[in-house]
Amino acid sequence: MEIALRTVAYLAAAILFILSLRGLSSQETARKGNTNGVLGMAVAIVATLTCSELDSFAGILIALVVGGTIGARMAATVAMTAMPQLVALLHSFVGLAAVLVGFATYLAGVKAGSVFEIEIFVDVFIGAITLTGSVLAYLKLKGSVSGKPLLLPGRHLLNLAIVALSLGLGYLFVQADGTDGVWTLLGMSLLAGVLGAHLVAAIGGADMPVVVSMLNSYSGWTASAAGFMLGNDLLIVTGALVGSSGAILSIIMCRAMNRSIWHVIFGGFGTEGGAPAAATATQPEGEIQETSVEEVVGRLTAAKNIVIVPGYGMAVARAQHKVHEMTELLRARGANVRFAIHPVAGRLPGHMNVLLAEANVPYDIVLEMDEINDDLPDTDVVLVIGANDIVNPSAETDETSPIYGMPVLQVWTSEFVVIMKRSRATGYAGVDNPLFYEDAAHMLFGDAGSSMDGIVAALRSDAPVGAA
Ligand code: NDP
Repeated sequence: MEIALRTVAYLAAAILFILSLRGLSSQETARKGNTNGVLGMAVAIVATLTCSELDSFAGILIALVVGGTIGARMAATVAMTAMPQLVALLHSFVGLAAVLVGFATYLAGVKAGSVFEIEIFVDVFIGAITLTGSVLAYLKLKGSVSGKPLLLPGRHLLNLAIVALSLGLGYLFVQADGTDGVWTLLGMSLLAGVLGAHLVAAIGGADMPVVVSMLNSYSGWTASAAGFMLGNDLLIVTGALVGSSGAILSIIMCRAMNRSIWHVIFGGFGTEGGAPAAATATQPEGEIQETSVEEVVGRLTAAKNIVIVPGYGMAVARAQHKVHEMTELLRARGANVRFAIHPVAGRLPGHMNVLLAEANVPYDIVLEMDEINDDLPDTDVVLVIGANDIVNPSAETDETSPIYGMPVLQVWTSEFVVIMKRSRATGYAGVDNPLFYEDAAHMLFGDAGSSMDGIVAALRSDAPVGAA
């Protein structure tokens, strides 16, 4: 009876997870999708706790309360700019859990048989790769470790050798009696850990978006492998959902960046053709045109077509609410204001969409890069707010650039481009931006939040009757 009840509950949870993913595929339904995901997880936890034979219910309850409290606190306090590294850290927990559960299951010696042992081995292998890969991604995204790719000579051979050695250990593991194979399992965990870190180390700064979604996918497959090992259907289904959706997202991101997915999986992609990224915060020399809040406001009030390109700096400056306010003021004056979203803008897939949704910017004026690039030559003013790599023309022209081949927003084709940032420093990829020296380009130096305050204040004081 209990098993039947658990099966029904697991089925309900799996359906809720599918509805969750469906909801998360569009901004309008994302909140509902999130609620379905939370509900699904609640059903899964309650069903597992009530319908399983547990040695220590109190112990699990304590772990739930402590873990839940830490998780809630982290989610409540994390700054939007620190979200990518938090996601990477959470992926590492999935890997760590898989490794620990794998060892515990093996040492408990509950089941025997080579199929079961292969399940344990695969679970620990993917788990260890996910663990160290995610920890390194966390450190890179946090800035504690350089974003430069580590390109060891013969690195692909090294990866291949690690996989071959792991397979050899796997053979010995299956042959071992009782729990004697624990040392081979440990040896393989160390090797897989090195592989995970090495795969991520070989990937350069500008290509990190794909790494984040790939690790998301790995964490799903890890959970799925754990599901096979533990004989838990829900874990298999949920893991497969996360694994496949992460893989699909990676493919979408790769297409957007004009990269090969295989190069990402095997590491060191995007680096063969270009020099490693230069150190960040370099200040290139050259003639630039500076502008002022007054001139920008004058241009904006005279413009019919305006495009706003938000980037990571908008998140740092938390300027999204002011940007929305400015948008409404300009629309009230009759201007056609639209947003252009590059697929890798910010530090997280969908980062800009989340910020704009948070600020209540209407979805119908938020367009993808492909939808708006052709309209840029007919645009009177483009406001680039804290973006850099995603508007860098060298991605189209400089074959030695690490970002060469990545499609970018061609803002330089418009009549007047305002670039809001604090200095001439480079963006995440660490490459200089020739856009700053284009005829149409005008730099509005300063924190994007302060510049937006100035623009909004000026527009308000000069607002036509009936403006928001
Ligand atoms: P970039 O990192 O290229 O540029 C952001 C710019 O914002 C910087 O040049 C900085 O210049 C400026 N800035 C920072 N703080 C402020 C502030 N307070 N006010 C005004 N400007 C500010 O960001 P993009 O969004 O253009 O490109 C994203 C980059 O991140 C790409 O290289 C992408 O590959 C990478 N990435 C993306 C991920 C994703 O999933 N979206 C994940 C990981 C990496 P200054 O210091 O002069 O102010």
